[in-house]
Amino acid sequence: TPPPGPLPIRRLHESLINRIAAGEIIHRPASALKELIENSLDAGATSIRVVVKDGGMKLLQIQDNGCGIRKADLPLLAERFTTSKLSTFSDLSALTTYGFRGEALASISHVAHLSAVTKTKSDSCAWKASYSDGVPVPSKAGQTPDPKPCAGNDGTTLTIEDLFYNTPTRLSALRSSSEEYARILDVMTKYAVHNPNVSFVCKKAGSSSPELSTPSSSDITQTIRLLYGHTIAKELVHITSSSETNDEHGGDDDPESWTAEAYFTNANYQAKKTVFLLFINHRLVESPRIKRSIESVYSGVLPKGASPFVYLSINIHPRSVDVNVHPTKREVHFLNEEAITEKISDSIQSKLVGQSQSRVFEYQT
Ligand code: ADP
Ligand code: MG
Repeated sequence: TPPPGPLPIRRLHESLINRIAAGEIIHRPASALKELIENSLDAGATSIRVVVKDGGMKLLQIQDNGCGIRKADLPLLAERFTTSKLSTFSDLSALTTYGFRGEALASISHVAHLSAVTKTKSDSCAWKASYSDGVPVPSKAGQTPDPKPCAGNDGTTLTIEDLFYNTPTRLSALRSSSEEYARILDVMTKYAVHNPNVSFVCKKAGSSSPELSTPSSSDITQTIRLLYGHTIAKELVHITSSSETNDEHGGDDDPESWTAEAYFTNANYQAKKTVFLLFINHRLVESPRIKRSIESVYSGVLPKGASPFVYLSINIHPRSVDVNVHPTKREVHFLNEEAITEKISDSIQSKLVGQSQSRVFEYQT
């Protein structure tokens, strides 16, 4: 049969558009959780407690003690592009929050049942609201969609149930609930290391002991020891690196200024696979380029096939970072990426080489 002529272009149905857009941001339970953790941190929380059922597919609940949400804002909470964090385009170049697009909760409400219980300090009680497809819906049959008063602590509890109930392909592409749970723990573990002042707790629904639990005033080394174990913690070394040179002082306002801090294992520690935690402006991101550069440093220090643990946090002037390049914000672009990567890798290398030389020296004397 001859190829058909051009087909008519049609507008997609609104609900289909929203579901497609949601799928780009919420890939799996762990990506929903990442958005929720970032919201809690944006809200100034010092305690983040997560409860999971069936790898997060049945239930994903996150409770924080942050600033809460004003009752008057609840009707807009799950609407797309509604946010308390960004108002002008130029704000994008001075971001100090994780969120800015107002898409996370909206996306979740298009692919799951979402509800919120929240209380600000000045509220006398908590308020509960439920959402579907971006708008408030009654929590129970016969009720109105308006927020309902209820008991609750200061802060916010968000509950996500039946994730991907209306996108069966996405649901069937997910792995086992134990693998999804492992990914949830991985995201929480990494945020817990980066935020040693925040207490993180994660457990399965109905279980009495959490799989992950950190105190609220710790430091990075202690948190790494608690979550990754003593074998890694006892071989950790630490460096800081920055754009500062002796003769010029760019100051805080120099868009090219940056600082970095790293905790990484020395040559005594040899794992099968690299564990790499990378935060750029406090955002958990991936950068194959930075990872490769650090791995090549280690290839000169470790035997073939052995890999390190590396935690690296880079802070760059917000004006030099573009966080809006990826729907899940998993990648960011920043100015002078090559030069910054090289300087950090060099610092790590000198530290590692210095370490192994002083060890040789210890053995000889
Ligand atoms: P964004 O984080 O990009 O603003 P979200 O959809 O993640 O978009 O959240 C929408 C808004 O809901 C946020 O701007 C914030 O005002 C509010 N919010 C969401 N989660 C919390 C929370 N845990 N505590 C306080 N406010 C929250
Ligand atoms: Mg957000």
